[in-house]
Amino acid sequence: MKPINVIIFGRQGSGKGTQSLLITKEFGPVHISTGDMLRAAVEKGTEFGLQAKAIMDRGELVSDEVISGIVAERLSQSDVIQNGCLLDGVPRTLGQAESIMKVLEKLDFSLDLVLNLEVPIDEVTSRMLSRGRADDTEEAIARRLGLYEQETAPLFEFFSEKGVFEVVDGLGSETEVFDRLSAVITRVLSDKK
Ligand code: AMP
Repeated sequence: MKPINVIIFGRQGSGKGTQSLLITKEFGPVHISTGDMLRAAVEKGTEFGLQAKAIMDRGELVSDEVISGIVAERLSQSDVIQNGCLLDGVPRTLGQAESIMKVLEKLDFSLDLVLNLEVPIDEVTSRMLSRGRADDTEEAIARRLGLYEQETAPLFEFFSEKGVFEVVDGLGSETEVFDRLSAVITRVLSDKK
């Protein structure tokens, strides 16, 4: 299979994490989730992990500098070079988007597709409240969704201009949503030389 490089956007609670795993299984790109990487650092209890935990608990964003650094390091590893990447939860700001585009260019990766898994705010809020994760307090959820609209949604324009942006309806069963995503990815793969 041709390696494919994809970014997936979606509000927290949109099902983006679950769908990312399905995409990785079916199409092979390496799943790179900055949320998972940060949670792993928190688990390890390093100084960095402790700092990240405080920021995550408040529903705020870890600095662009830190995020750009960990993503650049991950992207340059051999499994990604061989299989492509699926970036999940990153970029979240214009600063991150610009620095990731630079890294992709340097590694001679094409950005094939940017997906936006669209689930409305009301629906993701009720989903997050019912999943009961430790950082899912009502206040933190509202702050994260606010930051998403403010910092991340403007990136849709940035990627639309690059001609790779696709919106996919994220409502429905896991299978229905995956079928929609698969159709888009299959089309993009078949166009890829
Ligand atoms: P997630 O699992 O993607 O929802 O991320 C959980 C938390 O980790 C977020 O609420 C942020 O505090 C932090 N985080 C994850 N990815 C990023 C990123 N790309 N930029 C800044 N903070 C991030």
